[in-house]
Amino acid sequence: MTASSTMELTLAILKPDSVRRNLIGQILAQIEAAGLQIRALKRLTLTRRQAEAFYDVHRERPFFGSLCDYMTSGPVVVAALQGERAIERWRELMGATDPAKAAEGTIRKKFGQNIEQNAVHGSDATETAAREVAFFFSTMELAG
Ligand code: UDP
Ligand code: MG
Repeated sequence: MTASSTMELTLAILKPDSVRRNLIGQILAQIEAAGLQIRALKRLTLTRRQAEAFYDVHRERPFFGSLCDYMTSGPVVVAALQGERAIERWRELMGATDPAKAAEGTIRKKFGQNIEQNAVHGSDATETAAREVAFFFSTMELAG
C-alpha cells in the first residue's frame, strides 16, 4: 500500500427490517459485487443503551426515540467493509436516507420501507467510520 492509498474501513449495519425479511444474503452479495470486501461480520441484538450510544449524535432529534426502538426491535448484522474510498462507495451503494428519494439500484431504493426502516446504515466520514467500526469490532476480529 502506498502513502497516497485511500484504502478505508467503514461500518455497515443490516438493520432489523433487513434481517426480519431474510435479506442478509442479497445485501451482502450486492456489497461484494460492488467490489467492497467484508473484513468482519456478525449478527447481534443491540441493547437500548448500545443503540442510544451508537446514535448519540442524533440524541436531540425528534426521531431519536423511535429510531432506538426500531434498532433494538430485532437482530442486526454488522460488517466492517474495506476498499478504496470504501466510506463514500458504501454510502453511494446504500442510497439516500429516505428510500423514496434514493437512486434506482441502490439498496435503500430496493429494500428500504420508509425513512426510518431504510434497510442499512453506513458511516458518513473518516472519523465516524473509525468510531463505528471500533464500536462493534475488536482489533483481533479485524485482523483476519
Ligand atoms: N431517521 C429517521 N427519520 C429521519 C431521519 C433519519 O427515522 O427523519 C433514521 C433513519 O433510520 C436513518 C437514521 O435515523 O438511517 C440516521 O439518520 P441520518 O440522518 O444519519 O441518516 P443516514 O446517515 O442513515 O443516511
Ligand atoms: Mg448518518
